[in-house]
Amino acid sequence: MFTTTRFDSWDLPQNLLDSLEKIGWECATQVQKDTIPLARSGKDVIGQARTGSGKTAAFGLPILERCQPTGELQALILTPTRELANQVAEEFQTLQGESGLLIQTVYGGTDLEKQAKSLSNGVDIIVGTPGRVMDMTERGHINLELPTLFCLDEADRMLDMGFFPDIMWVTERMKNRDQTLLFSATFPQEIIDAAHEFMNEPEFILTNTEELDIPPIDLYSINIGRTNKLWALGRLMCRMSSEDQTIIFCNTKRMVDLAVQRLNKHRFVVEGLHGDLNQNQREKILNRFKEGEVKTIVATDVAARGIDVDGITLVVNYDLPVDLDSFIHRVGRTGRIGRKGEAWSLVSRDDAPQLSKIMATYGLDIVDSEAPELPEGIDRDPVSRQDDFGETADVFGFVTLQLDIDPSAAGSSRSVASWFQRALRCDEMALGDVHFDAESTFISIHTSKVGLAIKALQKHDMAGQRVTGTVFE
Ligand code: ADP
Ligand code: MG
Repeated sequence: MFTTTRFDSWDLPQNLLDSLEKIGWECATQVQKDTIPLARSGKDVIGQARTGSGKTAAFGLPILERCQPTGELQALILTPTRELANQVAEEFQTLQGESGLLIQTVYGGTDLEKQAKSLSNGVDIIVGTPGRVMDMTERGHINLELPTLFCLDEADRMLDMGFFPDIMWVTERMKNRDQTLLFSATFPQEIIDAAHEFMNEPEFILTNTEELDIPPIDLYSINIGRTNKLWALGRLMCRMSSEDQTIIFCNTKRMVDLAVQRLNKHRFVVEGLHGDLNQNQREKILNRFKEGEVKTIVATDVAARGIDVDGITLVVNYDLPVDLDSFIHRVGRTGRIGRKGEAWSLVSRDDAPQLSKIMATYGLDIVDSEAPELPEGIDRDPVSRQDDFGETADVFGFVTLQLDIDPSAAGSSRSVASWFQRALRCDEMALGDVHFDAESTFISIHTSKVGLAIKALQKHDMAGQRVTGTVFE
């Protein structure tokens, strides 16, 4: 993680060098070595490095160097959570030493007036969460036209948590912004694409991740909402032959019990294995699994520890593990002694950042795929699939709704959008692009509003006619 590049080999301001010396930091970490010189030159930078690699100082030092103690806002840093805002602000405080910069946090859940009052006494750097920063801007406590530097920490989480419209809101108001820094442990392609919308020819810096022995098995993921995980699991299980054995991992005992109950209801013979069973019961189940009497078990990580069964050809992560290493331990259950194994992860929108983290940490190639087709001879899904708007949403939680109204009747994209804004009484941020093809009109809508939108169309005419809306996949 550390390099041989010494901080004192850079011509940093004396105040910063002093505080680095004081806290005993001598050498830059890899991500610091790679990004600090670029950021100091004024370039836009996207920096990716794993958790704990020193990203805060990677953007902190160039920002602190650039700001002067004038009491006028020069830099805005946004983080996804309050805790992180505090953490970043604390590290900035430590690093700035005697620089005399006024650094203030701005986040929800605390007295707004108090925060406003201390801002009015002067501030050079704000570290905040998007919601409160927007709120304070609208109330005139923050002037976003002042800061020239904008930074997003944990950019992947921010964009995954649906903050993208907020970030656009902020960047549009930062009229004098001339440098943008984005730091994150992972950068899924969609986020890099999105970042280009508000960055200026960013340099992309990826630092190396750790290595770990990965068993030679095929790894797949299926993007699927909670609602339909059981459906996908049904698809996976009905492909297995009588030789195959399967382990399904859940994160909690309760989830194991639920999965067992539901699978039994759908006529799959499975056994649950978790820490609430006594030693005797566990051993019994494990033996039956080893003998092949039980083909499938549903287990928590702890209960599955030490399971060494050659016949396992399928591992399913019903939940993605919270702890990254568990992923490797889980998938290592299959593909033993040269047998071909597969591991499938069922990944809901909430799990997606965790999957990216796993892939980035271990350099894994997990193939993003659809649930497998039903095998020949089976013409009905073991578990039926349900409506779930969340599944068709893009990373920002938007779904495209197809309206059977032809573009000439629909009017302008603005009038279509404002129809929805009125009908749903929603913020314009919940509505995305409107576009047209020869026969239909399309509008993207936040998942939280799609059901309402479909209902509104059933109740009210649009442009004098009854219009049907269907989710467009
Ligand atoms: P990340 O944001 O990449 O997860 P942090 O910025 O939180 O990582 O840094 C992790 C820890 O390493 C922090 O405690 C930080 O103070 C420390 N650290 C960062 N850079 C250095 C360095 N060059 N020398 C010594 N400690 C460092
Ligand atoms: Mg960090």
